[in-house]
Amino acid sequence: MIPQQLPSYPWETAGAPHLRPITKEHFRCRGRRSHPPKPNHNGELQGDCDGYFEHGLPVRNGEEGVQPILIELLNILQEKTKNQVIVTSGHRCPKHQAYLYSHPKAQASKHQVGAEVAFYIPNWEPENLIPIIENFYKSHSRYEQRPSYLHFKRWDKETDVRTPPWYNEEIFIKIYQQDEGRNEDNSHPFPYLSIQVRYDMEKGEKVQYTWKGSQEYFR
Ligand SMILES: [Zn+2]
Repeated sequence: MIPQQLPSYPWETAGAPHLRPITKEHFRCRGRRSHPPKPNHNGELQGDCDGYFEHGLPVRNGEEGVQPILIELLNILQEKTKNQVIVTSGHRCPKHQAYLYSHPKAQASKHQVGAEVAFYIPNWEPENLIPIIENFYKSHSRYEQRPSYLHFKRWDKETDVRTPPWYNEEIFIKIYQQDEGRNEDNSHPFPYLSIQVRYDMEKGEKVQYTWKGSQEYFR
């Protein structure tokens, strides 16, 4: 019998072509009309939005979009880990944000302006993704001669997580352990990472949540 060469499957080829590239589509609002109404901070029942059936992404340069660095970083992490990035929360419209967290103080989330993402990578501890992100900054020519991008610092002020976050000029990274940061978007059992954008290099401006900004999305 002549041994036959086993057929090669596309997911076995060099690199990781089985991975779905991360695009702005992964950032669509996770609101669902089927979510049961919940009492808000005034005790009134409040429903959710209907996610991408109801509305689009924030407006960026006249089109639907989110902060490009987030898409770039998620694709880098996919490429380096050869594992699919699972985005659990990208853009949140104000209605969905209010559904997740009804307290008025919880409304200033950068998710609403397309500048924050929550995600995990199956079989990867979030801590092990930090060096990959740091290496991305150290090896990209865009950040040469920019020390405030190359060196990550640890945030020592109070936050909603136990692990001190990492940050550089452009981004702020938090790790949510299995008992932290659970909501309808993150109802899975895995620890996850959140990346917020602090500075928009393309536009040369600080990125902040504003009420006005949160209202600027495609309807
Ligand atoms: Zn929504």
